[in-house]
Amino acid sequence: MKRIAVLTSGGDAPGMNAAVRAVVRRGIACDMEVYGVYHGYAGLLDGQLALMNAGSVGDIIQRGGTILYTSRCDEFRTDAGQQKAIEQLKANEIEGLVVIGGDGSFRGAHKLTEKGFPTIGIPGTIDNDIPGTEMTLGFDTAVNTVIEAIDKIRDTATSHERTYVVEVMGRHRGDIALWAGLSGGAESILIPEIEHEMDEVIQRLMDGHRRGKKHSIIIVSEGVCSASVIGDQIKEATGFDTRVTVLGHVQRGGSPSAYDRMLGSRFGARAVDLLQKGEAGRMVGIQQNRIVAVTFDDVFNGVLKTDNEMYELSKSLSI
Ligand code: ADP
Repeated sequence: MKRIAVLTSGGDAPGMNAAVRAVVRRGIACDMEVYGVYHGYAGLLDGQLALMNAGSVGDIIQRGGTILYTSRCDEFRTDAGQQKAIEQLKANEIEGLVVIGGDGSFRGAHKLTEKGFPTIGIPGTIDNDIPGTEMTLGFDTAVNTVIEAIDKIRDTATSHERTYVVEVMGRHRGDIALWAGLSGGAESILIPEIEHEMDEVIQRLMDGHRRGKKHSIIIVSEGVCSASVIGDQIKEATGFDTRVTVLGHVQRGGSPSAYDRMLGSRFGARAVDLLQKGEAGRMVGIQQNRIVAVTFDDVFNGVLKTDNEMYELSKSLSI
């Protein structure tokens, strides 16, 4: 393979730039020409491609977001859109495409491969919600951002002896809440995968209060319900001074952690190696600290496991 392209698609995540850098530089090391596609699939349809060199990806490993920009594109969901994308790639004599994004972006990449164009996916999303990889790119940074926020909220919670309900991202998957809750010392963690009993959450708060706890932090994934609903229930049942914080998009941004820079670099290099070997229709992932390649079919049919042990551990430590 002599010419490949790379794009970022769907929700952005810290570490995407490290992956773009690795794709470009590994490609160059393999005597390939590497094109960057701007604005995801929308830019691909518009022919927004530029030849990258080692310098075009200099000084980006530490930056959040994606220098290639990202988008959502309805036209690409259609057969005609996918055909047009392949024509654009072929017109530029590009033979393989690396797609950095989430599940939706991989469904698009899979369609291209079904139509005969080789693609490899790199899982980039803060939600850690992609089967076939134990970690997605951006998740570690997002968890660190959340615990930094929790630590700050804890200061004011203690000073005012308040209960705080903190809403974090995760519509279907509670990993951000679970990891940040455990490492931030939250009193309760509410995630979509495990049903919670509000009575139990309230009982734990009251028990803590009786033992002299000065503050309490409850972490709730956005997929459970809005934090204000939980806040109102707590206030009504306990009478405690209860405040709500919704962290929102700050969780998506920021300089990637060392782990995400490392993961992006390893994912990017392996994606190029796979294309070089003639493999396609796969996503790179990490399992037991080894970089693996999983078919898109296995990704789409895979089931995410909830870490019940971690959930129980968090409960047993926040007494
Ligand atoms: P993410 O990759 O973060 O899950 P989206 O679900 O928004 O983000 O997907 C990003 C883009 O991928 C969409 O805007 C669309 O262009 C493309 N895409 C998503 N699902 C499909 C699909 N089923 N078939 C073809 N393309 C898709």
